[in-house]
Amino acid sequence: MDIFAQISSEIKEFNSTLVLVTKTKSAELISEYYNRGHRDFGENKVQELLPKYDTLPKDIRWHFIGHLQKNKVKYIAPFVNLIHSVDSLELLEEINDRGLKNERIIGVLLEIKIADEFTKYGLSEEECVDLIANPVLKTFHNIRIKGLMGMASFVDDEKTIKKEFESLKDLYVKLKSRFFSDSDEFCELSMGMSGDYKIALDCGSTMVRIGSLILGSRK
Ligand SMILES: *Cc1c(COP(=O)(O)O)cnc(C)c1O
Repeated sequence: MDIFAQISSEIKEFNSTLVLVTKTKSAELISEYYNRGHRDFGENKVQELLPKYDTLPKDIRWHFIGHLQKNKVKYIAPFVNLIHSVDSLELLEEINDRGLKNERIIGVLLEIKIADEFTKYGLSEEECVDLIANPVLKTFHNIRIKGLMGMASFVDDEKTIKKEFESLKDLYVKLKSRFFSDSDEFCELSMGMSGDYKIALDCGSTMVRIGSLILGSRK
């Protein structure tokens, strides 16, 4: 069994989804995994995703995992499966507008800042609650908020990573019972990468985003 098969089955045991992160990797390489039956792939740049979308089979579920600029939403709105990295009302509004124009409902996750270290993107717990509680969201019929995403600190200390993932899980549970108790749509917790996915699975991750561990390091 190769590392892809090994990690896939490990993740399945936790009922979690593997998003294979293919940034900087070729469409040919993605095809190999597609031909092995994999369908969930993650990219972090719009200009890199578009040519891959064009050449690869249309039943791939594309996950957008990078910082998304408002003016680029229109390019991925026709096909993107899930946007993991939404951290403002303005971006949600734009995604909703583009979903409406494309007559589709676009799934999104809210990105939460859980790492201690300085990171530019992501909402604080308080900002996230304010955003979800904003009444204007009720008028956004072309987005579906499906859960949360977070990145732990890039440290070796497992306790720190575990604490951060647990805080994200706690917030997810809290938000689910306070705002989404009458539906099952808030059901995804995207956390875990090559270096920390095992900890993330133990903490309740439903989606792990893995690139280099399976595909090799990026240039
Ligand atoms: C690149 C990237 C990953 C995957 O990172 P690896 O360490 O290669 O597994 C996961 N999530 C995001 C947001 C990324 O940008």
